[in-house]
Amino acid sequence: HKYVDFVHPIQMRPGQCHTENEIKARDPIRCRECGYRIIYKKRTKRCIL
Ligand SMILES: [Zn+2]
Repeated sequence: HKYVDFVHPIQMRPGQCHTENEIKARDPIRCRECGYRIIYKKRTKRCIL
């Protein structure tokens, strides 16, 4: 399976979730910890909304 690392945008305030997610290509794009959907690909820094 292909996994991609995702992180939240740096705009999120300190103290908020900083979980790094490993998500399969066809899995829902959302944080496993907080459910926040705005996350970026770790390598590309591109928004993947
Ligand atoms: Zn999160």
